[in-house]
Amino acid sequence: MKNYFLLFSCMLIFVCTAFATQPRKVLVIGIDGTRADALQTAKTPNIDALLNNAFYTFDSWHLDITVSGPSWSSIMTGVYHQKHGVTNNSYSGSNYNNYPYFPTRAKEYKPNLYCVQIAEWAPMSDDVYNDGWNLKLKVPDGQGTPTENAAVTQLANPNLDVLFVYFDAVDLAGHSSGFNPANPSYIAAIENVDGHIGGILNALYARPNYANEDWLILITTDHGGIGTGHGGNTNQERHIWWIASGNNVSPRQLTNRPDPGSYQISGVNQSVRRQSPVQADVAVTALHHLLYDLNFKPDTVSKWNLDGISWLDSIYATSGTRNLKYNIAVEFFPNPSASSVQFTFPKALDQSTRFELLDMSGMVCRQEDLMPGAERFALSVAGLAKGAYLARFSSAEASATLKLMVE
Ligand SMILES: [Zn+2]
Repeated sequence: MKNYFLLFSCMLIFVCTAFATQPRKVLVIGIDGTRADALQTAKTPNIDALLNNAFYTFDSWHLDITVSGPSWSSIMTGVYHQKHGVTNNSYSGSNYNNYPYFPTRAKEYKPNLYCVQIAEWAPMSDDVYNDGWNLKLKVPDGQGTPTENAAVTQLANPNLDVLFVYFDAVDLAGHSSGFNPANPSYIAAIENVDGHIGGILNALYARPNYANEDWLILITTDHGGIGTGHGGNTNQERHIWWIASGNNVSPRQLTNRPDPGSYQISGVNQSVRRQSPVQADVAVTALHHLLYDLNFKPDTVSKWNLDGISWLDSIYATSGTRNLKYNIAVEFFPNPSASSVQFTFPKALDQSTRFELLDMSGMVCRQEDLMPGAERFALSVAGLAKGAYLARFSSAEASATLKLMVE
């Protein structure tokens, strides 16, 4: 019996440390040329899984030039073309020295951040300067698999802080056969990219220190399309979408958001524009997340003169989890497991805590509400498919996510 306890103690896997601060990291996924209605039509189980923990809208409106160069510049710099200077895909006229990509801005305060871009589209990889990347990888255009593989490799690096992954295939399909939710080729391209996103997310969840990291995943597109093109001001080109997802994000969808207008037509109504996140808000929200511990909002830094705003307070606000005071300390045994898993809390739970077991598609397979004072919890995994799962504990002020294997 004594030996049994010794064995038990040795095999405990200590996953989270109470009172630790989770390092905040950012994954930006860009899917070129994806209309909001088409994304909703396509079968995208991996993006859908992210929506379970997302602040998001399918009513984001393009405010500027509906062309890739200027649009991705707005997404990554947090300002529009009047400041970043990019008005076409040649990137001529770029003013990145005054309005750089958000990793450059983040490094003004945290120079040791390690930031990587993986892009399929050559102009983004070749012509964008002062972008703050430590590593910039050009992968074959429109293929997806090399992009996914490169992202998986980068995510294995424990020091990675910011990853931007860019997919081009949806835009290529739109140009060849139509930007239209009724076009099967266009929809298939979206579904194919979703599969690659699934591979990238699995690599994210498999990071050795994932349970102690706070990843904000931002996904958006640069424009929609009409017929086989884009660049104009129709709703089909301007009606886009915006997703921010993460373990600590309070799920919330913004619907029926009005169109604030466009700089290309008669200007933007700034109060309407604040009713829904837009492109420039990606960079600013990412920056806020990376610099959160410094206690200022990037959109209030006058020397940066950003156009975008941070949605971070909205993203984390509704349940108060942004005030996370600590991680829940959890030990569990055995892992892998074939029948049951015993979770123990070295410090008894001090609040009611929701437990969820999610499969890698994000589907909740088990759920239980744990009472304050709980010190342990047994989970049956009998009957579950073999593979990796995420066990998530969350209360109003604390959380923990751990990976467990069922065999
Ligand atoms: Zn295009």
